[in-house]
Amino acid sequence: MPPVIDTEKCTGCGACIDDCPNDVLVMKDDKSIVKDADECVECGVCVDNCPEEAIILS
Ligand code: SF4
Ligand code: SF4
Repeated sequence: MPPVIDTEKCTGCGACIDDCPNDVLVMKDDKSIVKDADECVECGVCVDNCPEEAIILS
């Protein structure tokens, strides 16, 4: 499953977008959103690098 982003917690810092190896995430309206779920390899980098703990990978 691709990550789920809590838009209440996301501050739009962009770290997850910069760090995702597969360009799964993009910024929209100052929040990170999943653009290309099929490309997610569930590596967990976005989860580990989010300073707000706004990303959940289930
Ligand atoms: S789990 Fe990995 S591949 Fe999937 S969105 Fe996060 S950083 Fe990108
Ligand atoms: S790293 Fe976290 S706070 Fe920063 S844009 Fe991504 S989801 Fe939002």
